[in-house]
Amino acid sequence: MITIPFNKPYLTGNEVKYIENAVSRGKISGNGYYTKICQDLFRKKFGFKKCLLSTSCTDALEMAAILADIKDGDEVIMPSYTFVSTANAFILRGARIVFVDSRSDHPGMDESQIEALINHRTKAIVPVHYAGVACDMDLIMKLADKYNLFVIEDAAQAIDSYYTGSDGIKRPLGSIGHLAAFSFHETKNIISGEGGMLAINDERFIDRAEIIWEKGTNRSAFFRGEVDKYGWVDLGSSFLPSEIIAAFLWAQLEKLEEIQSKRLEIWEFYLKELQDWSISKGVNLATVPNFATNNAHMFYMVCKDVKQRKCLIELLKKNGILGVFHYLSLHKSEFYREKHDGREIPLADHYSNCLIRLPLFYELSEKELKKITETLKSF
Ligand SMILES: *Cc1c(COP(=O)(O)O)cnc(C)c1O
Repeated sequence: MITIPFNKPYLTGNEVKYIENAVSRGKISGNGYYTKICQDLFRKKFGFKKCLLSTSCTDALEMAAILADIKDGDEVIMPSYTFVSTANAFILRGARIVFVDSRSDHPGMDESQIEALINHRTKAIVPVHYAGVACDMDLIMKLADKYNLFVIEDAAQAIDSYYTGSDGIKRPLGSIGHLAAFSFHETKNIISGEGGMLAINDERFIDRAEIIWEKGTNRSAFFRGEVDKYGWVDLGSSFLPSEIIAAFLWAQLEKLEEIQSKRLEIWEFYLKELQDWSISKGVNLATVPNFATNNAHMFYMVCKDVKQRKCLIELLKKNGILGVFHYLSLHKSEFYREKHDGREIPLADHYSNCLIRLPLFYELSEKELKKITETLKSF
């Protein structure tokens, strides 16, 4: 029986109170009071030019693909070691996905391999900040400038994490690419059950993003009094969440600092306790490159081989602890392997086979943490 789950959604205590308040305001559809205060906070705290809450990160990525005007035959470069939504959003618009391998020191994509994959059909690069750890954005933005490409950050795991470029300035992830997508799924640091956000940093996209968000109508401009009637002006879908979701999210955002510092404490406990053990077993612990920060989204380890990972997962399970693996390389997936260009992508496969994630959630107690690290050390 599992007594220590992999994840447990943390409630700050104000979620239901704010939902009740949202209901009593008499407007529970989207783009109301709580949506606005959440979006304002993100904008002010992280410097995104414009924020639009969405029903998921998947939806925010779909909005980004529409905004980048991805069409049949366009190519989009992204890591193979990522979640399916990173790719689906662009495939829905007819794109071909060109997968990049991971770094040898980190599951994030190897930026040095991107340029060789760019051709006249390439339209966008989608860096995924795996475990909330930045990709080397200087390199990626330089390529985007040189070849006139869009950069859409998949920042699903990257809230409150930062990148320091060669100019020495520390920038929040999601504020660097033209567009960025965040997730508030219950497995992320800040949650609303299902939920997400599109961050828009390139002003050219702001007006159209609002229209796409409001089902292809200029309803937002109408309510601001900028046009005297509203109608169907563009593509769009139902991307905005209800006020009930936004009210829940507000209760989480109020406690952002507290949540982050607690998660970091847990992450550092793992690192300290497992360092010597991991070296003796040939296991690599999570690393953070110098240009990145750690938002403690995830504590992962990369095992020597698939057999060692299987044994570790079984050992944890026997002790009631759920440790889990993560992505399966997208270039080998049932859906995409026939469409992939056939290149070997060995490090993505290595992480697919050897990476394991340990439980990490706000309410994980010191006793439970000790049990997890002691169990691993008995291996
Ligand atoms: C969680 C996640 C998503 C999807 O987020 P949803 O909000 O569930 O749609 C996309 N990309 C990455 C890298 C993720 O971790």
